[in-house]
Amino acid sequence: MLDNLSTGSIENIDHLRGHPRFHYTIDTVTNEPVLAELLDRSEVVFHLAAAVGVKKIVEEPVHTIENNVHGTEVVLRHANKKKKLVVVASTSEVYGKSEAVPFREDADLVMGPTVKHRWAYACSKAIDEFLALAYHKEKKLPVIIIRLFNTVGPRQSGQYGMVIPNFVRQALAGQPITVFGDGTQSRSFTYVGDVVRALVALANEPRAVGEVFNIGNGREITIGALAERVKRLTGSASDIVYIPYDQAYEAGFEDMPRRVPDISKINALVGYAPTVDLDEILQGVIEYFRSR
Ligand code: UDP
Repeated sequence: MLDNLSTGSIENIDHLRGHPRFHYTIDTVTNEPVLAELLDRSEVVFHLAAAVGVKKIVEEPVHTIENNVHGTEVVLRHANKKKKLVVVASTSEVYGKSEAVPFREDADLVMGPTVKHRWAYACSKAIDEFLALAYHKEKKLPVIIIRLFNTVGPRQSGQYGMVIPNFVRQALAGQPITVFGDGTQSRSFTYVGDVVRALVALANEPRAVGEVFNIGNGREITIGALAERVKRLTGSASDIVYIPYDQAYEAGFEDMPRRVPDISKINALVGYAPTVDLDEILQGVIEYFRSR
C-alpha cells in the first residue's frame, strides 16, 4: 500500500500493520523513485490515489485537477515500463447530470459548464480514463477502469463532506441532521467490502482488460429518506434540517439528481452482486462511531 495520508488515516490500517503479508509506504504516487520500486515488487496496481469528496473539490479545485491528472499519468507511465496490470479507480461522477438511469458504461457523459468547479472532478477522472485506455490501445498496457458509486462503510471519514458518516455522527451527538438541497436527490450506496471483492475478481479476469465497469449497488435512496433512516436506526432525537446547496457548498452549486448503476456488465463477467444492504451498512457505521 502506498498512501500519503492526505485524506486517509493511519488508524484505519491499525489492524493490518503487524500482518506479515501487508506492507505499506507513507509517500505519494508522484515520488517516482518510490513508485518505481514498489511497482517492481507488485503484480497488480490498484490505483485509488486521488482527491476525494465534493466539498474538498469545490474548495481546492487546483489541487483536484493537478492531483488526479498528474498522479494517474505518473502511475500509468511507470506501470507501462514493466507492463503491470493497472486497475484505475474512476467514479460514477463521470456520468454527470445525465438522467439516463441506470447508468450504463457505454452511455454519454453529461457535464456542466467549466465555471462550476464540481465538474472538474468528473472531467479529471474522465481524462484518467481516456489516458488509461490510450495506454492500452497504443502501448498494450493491461488496464481496467472501474466507476465507483458512493462506496461506504465503517472507518470512512466525514471530514470531506460524505453524507453517511456525517448523518450518523450528527444523529449520535443529538445535533441537527443536515440535508443539503431539498433531499430528493438520490444515491445508491455500496459496501466497501463488496467493492474490494469486485476489484479482486476483475483483476483476476483476463477478459476485463481494456474495459470499463460500474461497481455499485442498484438500490437507490433519496438523501431525505436516508436522514430519516439514520435517525430511526440510531434512535436519535435530532431534527432533520434542510440547507440550500448555495450555503452547503458555494453559490450556483449543481448536484447530481440521481446516481444509479447498471451492474449487468460486471455481473455477467465475474458474477458480482452486492451482498450488504443499506441497513447493514448503516448499522456497521453506527457501531463504529459509538465505539469511538
Ligand atoms: N449531503 C447532505 N448532507 C451532508 C453531506 C452530503 O445532504 O451533510 C448530500 C450531498 O449534497 C449529495 C449526497 O448527500 O447530494 C451525497 O453526498 P456525498 O458527498 O456523500 O457524495 P457525492 O454523491 O456527492 O459524491
